[in-house]
Formats: sequence, C-alpha cells, structure tokens
Amino acid sequence: MYDSSKSFALSMDQNDRLSSYRQQFNYPKNHLGEDLIYFCGNSLGLQPKTATDQMKKEFAIWSEKGVLGQESRWVAYHERLTRSSANLVGANETEVVIMNALTVNIHFLLISFYQPNEKKFKILMEKDAFPSDQYAIQSQIDFHGYDPKDALIEISPRQGEKLLRHEDIIDSIDEHGDELALIYLGGLNYYTGQALDMENITSVGRARGVTVGFNLAHSAGNVPLELHDWGVDFAAWCTYKYLCGGPGSPAGIFIHERHHDWEGPRLLGWWGHDKGSRFDMPSSFDPIPTSEAWQISNAPIMGMAPLIASMEIFEKIGMDTIHQKGFQLSSYLKFLLIESLPKVKIITPDERGCQLSIVVPGGKVVFDFLHDNGVVCDWRNPDVIRVAPHPLFNTFTEVSKFVDILKRALERQ
Ligand SMILES: *Cc1c(COP(=O)(O)O)cnc(C)c1O
Repeated sequence: MYDSSKSFALSMDQNDRLSSYRQQFNYPKNHLGEDLIYFCGNSLGLQPKTATDQMKKEFAIWSEKGVLGQESRWVAYHERLTRSSANLVGANETEVVIMNALTVNIHFLLISFYQPNEKKFKILMEKDAFPSDQYAIQSQIDFHGYDPKDALIEISPRQGEKLLRHEDIIDSIDEHGDELALIYLGGLNYYTGQALDMENITSVGRARGVTVGFNLAHSAGNVPLELHDWGVDFAAWCTYKYLCGGPGSPAGIFIHERHHDWEGPRLLGWWGHDKGSRFDMPSSFDPIPTSEAWQISNAPIMGMAPLIASMEIFEKIGMDTIHQKGFQLSSYLKFLLIESLPKVKIITPDERGCQLSIVVPGGKVVFDFLHDNGVVCDWRNPDVIRVAPHPLFNTFTEVSKFVDILKRALERQ
C-alpha cells in the first residue's frame, strides 16, 4: 500500500485531512530560515500560533483589572480545560482536572491510592521505567516504611527481547495478586514506544482487588484512551509533550468516579474545597465531590493559557483521527526503513502511536549527523533514537526526507 517514491509521499500529504494544521503551529527553522524536521513532539510539542493570544489576553486582564480578574475569570479558569481533557482520555468531566506537574501529581495520587498493609504492600511496575517514576515509587514505598527491595515487583522483557509481553504482565498479576497493593505502569513506554493493553491489565488487576494506575505521559494526545470504561482507578499525564501545552505546562489527572466519595488519605488544599463556600474561609474542609477535591492550589493561569490554545485543536479534531494520522506516519516510516535501510532495527511494535524507536549501526555518531543535518529527534541511552512524527504538524514528505538523511548518515559508517 505504501511506496518509496517522493510522489507517493506528496500524494499522502495532499490527501491528509490534517495537513492544514501544520499552519497553526510555529515551526522551528535552521540558521538559513529553512524548516527543521521536527520529530520531537514526544518530548516537547510545538507552539500553537494561538498560544500567544491566549497569554496576551490574561496579561491584559491582569494589567487592567488586577485582583478583579480573579473572581470574574481565574477562579474557574482551569474548568476551560475540563471537557477537552475528559474527551482526550475517555473520561467523564467530573473525573479529570488539570493541575500541578506530572510527578507532583503522581505523588499526590499515590498518597491516596497506595495504601499498603502487611498483606498487600507490593507495587508492580515496569523495570527501567522513566526515572522520575522510579524515584517517586521508591520514595513512596520508603515513606510507608517498606523496603523497595521487598515491595517492588519490576516486570521486564524476556532475555534477549526489548518489549514487554502482555501475558507476562498478566502472569505476574496472577502470581503476586494477593500481595499487590498497586499496579502502576506507563500506558505507552517512553523508550520503546510500546502501548500496553490498559483495558485488560485493569480488568485483571481489579478482579484481584488491586488498584490500577497509569502514567500517560506518552499516551495522552498520541493514542485513544477510554479510562472511564476501562475502569482505571487513576492516571496522570503531562501536557507539554504530544499535547503542545508549552514547557512545564500544567499536568492532568484522572480519578475514576467510583472514588469521588473518598474518605481515605488525601493531601488537602483550599482549591479542593467546595466552590460555594471556599471564600468564606471555613476552617474545616468540605471536598468538591469530583476529582477536583485533589486540587491543592489555585491554578497557574499563565501556564495554562497556551494549553487552552492547543487543547482547542485536539478537541476539534478528536483522538481517533489524530491517532490514525500518527500511526500512518510511523507506519510509513517503518515501511521506508524496512525497504531501504535493513540494518536499522525497529524496536517499536504495532501497538503504538506515532513514535518509532530505532537502533542504528553507529549509534550516537549517526544521531549527531541527523542533528547536524536539520533533524530534531532524540537519543536515549544506551542505544535508541526516538523518532516521533507528530500528527498535527508533521508530513509524510518529512518522513521521506528523514529517511534520506538517515541513509546518508549510514553510508558514512
Ligand atoms: C516526561 C515524563 C515524566 C516527566 O515528569 P515531570 O514531572 O513532568 O517533569 C514523567 N514520567 C514519564 C513516563 C514521562 O515520560
């Protein structure tokens, strides 16, 4: 169905329903003013052109009204992101909130959802998870007085393999279910690009009485999610990667509605208090009966403004269409690599979004050549190049150009 001619790439671009969206983003250029090949939306998404207007609006209100902007606008500002965030992850609107940063939220969620006791105190996670998740989980285990050596069950690929096997995850849940307090996994692995079967893992885990949470840093904005219907207990994601919210933009959380009458442990702040009486400044906490009860502080308006711009785009198109395009871009890339560069090893499986993780002969030297020749992608130790053509601002022609540059790099090896 694919072919390797330039005219084919061009015809894919011409028939692409999302091709016009590239114009809605500011696209990075080299010193000659030519477009770079930006395949790094998995690390930091590009800036929507409307982000500046959203920022300017809030700056103007701050300058013109001072605190009067608070009541009329900023108290409920984060609610502007509720519907789009709910649709993004397949949730009810009461189940999602945009707040804080990703690892911060993981800690707040674990305070509630990791409740170890003598019988059930273990956490199942993937070996070599993103470092921040490893630190967060280890410190939470420590915090409860357990030893990560006893309490962590790390699932890894089989000897000689790079990907997790679904059956191994399920077997591990079966084997350790009675001791597991929590299953905490990356929905889509940041290193390999492998998407897990979150629905099945959730249903098997919950059937064993285990709480199930996911880190969606590489899933949100990349693959379709149905967190509510899958029955996931909680999830968290950042918004500066695929979602183009800007560096350090505030993060998202999902808490299934079955937990909204929560009486367990939770760290509190005034932004989680009932909205009707919050400004009466009562001394006892009356939680909002939604995931918003987990909010601590008032929202960072200037950080949220660009995210409002990008989430409008995601909301308008919808995740099914966005994933379809991202998957086509990575499938086309895979086709060209297999056809013309058989020495390149592709790690990422068919269960994926737009990212392909590849291993190339020459490793870092080849990566540096790509970089010097106008390609922005990233290198992850020990030997992987992550290539992520983003469905909203990349083209099939760029994928074809990328493979040409990679070919030149490999010819020098
Ligand atoms: C990007 C990423 C993070 C980043 O954490 P921050 O708190 O936003 O700095 C954490 N976990 C995973 C899996 C990631 O991919």
